[in-house]
Amino acid sequence: MEVRRTVPVKLDVDSDDAALLRETVDEFLWAANYVVDHAWQGEYKTTSKAQLQEETYDDVREQTRLHANLVQNARNKAADAVQGVVARWKQDEYAGKPRFSNPTVVYDKRCATFHDKYVSLATVDGRIEVEYVLPDDDRDTPHSRYLDNDDYEVTGAELHNKDCEWFLHLRTKAEVETDTVEQATTGHPTVLGVDLNVNQLAVTSTGTFWSGHEFDHWRREYGNRRGSLQQCGSRHAHENIQAVGRKETGRFKMMLHRIANGIIEEAVENGCTVIGFEALTGIRDRLSSAWWGHKWAFERLYEYVEYKAELYGIDVAQVDPENTSRRCSTCGFTHPDNRNGEDFVCLKCGYENHADYNAAKNIGLRYLRRNQTGDGGGAPVGVRLNRGTLNANGEYDPPAGDSGQSGSPRESPTLNEANGEAVSE
Ligand SMILES: [Zn+2]
Repeated sequence: MEVRRTVPVKLDVDSDDAALLRETVDEFLWAANYVVDHAWQGEYKTTSKAQLQEETYDDVREQTRLHANLVQNARNKAADAVQGVVARWKQDEYAGKPRFSNPTVVYDKRCATFHDKYVSLATVDGRIEVEYVLPDDDRDTPHSRYLDNDDYEVTGAELHNKDCEWFLHLRTKAEVETDTVEQATTGHPTVLGVDLNVNQLAVTSTGTFWSGHEFDHWRREYGNRRGSLQQCGSRHAHENIQAVGRKETGRFKMMLHRIANGIIEEAVENGCTVIGFEALTGIRDRLSSAWWGHKWAFERLYEYVEYKAELYGIDVAQVDPENTSRRCSTCGFTHPDNRNGEDFVCLKCGYENHADYNAAKNIGLRYLRRNQTGDGGGAPVGVRLNRGTLNANGEYDPPAGDSGQSGSPRESPTLNEANGEAVSE
């Protein structure tokens, strides 16, 4: 059986190389958008890679300095996106024309060579060699597990630019015997805990929040539209109400896809092998008096995360939700008064944080503890925080290169609207 893992690696890029990479990103995005524009012409959207290749390859080669294989990768990215939109139309869902703006470039082995400590990447002006910024050899990290492991082969990578820094998300794969899959995939689990709730739709144990603000806004907006149509009472109005319902569903699904992608990205960047959610039955019970749409949304979100995670070789698990919102993730003290709305203050140890963030950590910890009993529990395991890792005993392990720091982790969360823009509270 094939096991796939994505390993994020930071790159050590000097200013000349950074300039080349930026130009490569720009031209790659230009090429992908050019192919989408071409596919979009006319009533019938072109989704065939072969046809798009034939109709756009020469133009893109002429108008960019991209390596031939990067041109093909941009075309594949565009074709995949257009195919995705057409598939959603067939499901009667709303989806708009794709537009690429995130600074990424897709590399494969024809336009990149992956070495142990560095990579050679095709750019708009020949190849450059860039070193990896790797953690200490003796630490158990995704690098030591998959990159320094001869069983895993690097098959390709995506170049990312984030906050002026460059990263490669290396795709690796290994062929393993079926009876060792369990070990290969659960030997050293690192968990991303995710709490789902009404005000903050999703909060991860790494401290990223997706607010429910946009969701609530559109829920009110579509409610109003339905309300004013309702007053007409005609057959025409009835049909329009149904159309509003379909648009609403489409918009909500699009938001949930964005959140699901964000959760996957969070798991990949933090080297998590498992994403843990509270069991859906628990969410249903907890929100028994909430609007039905939230329950529907959380089921969809779980479903989206589950199938997207599979592409990255990440497992998705549900854990027993009992007391995850009342329990202190630092000392374990459990009491209903620990939580007051969105504020969590432990009555025993004084730990203070956003209540949903505390719950996300508890969800991760519960997954670890459940999976430790039974197999002797010798493997190093952890819940990924926004800095460092919590082990199953609740002990904090600071990130690599941070050993001089003592005390509690900085846990200032990053807030995200559902559209992925960072906002301040
Ligand atoms: Zn406490």
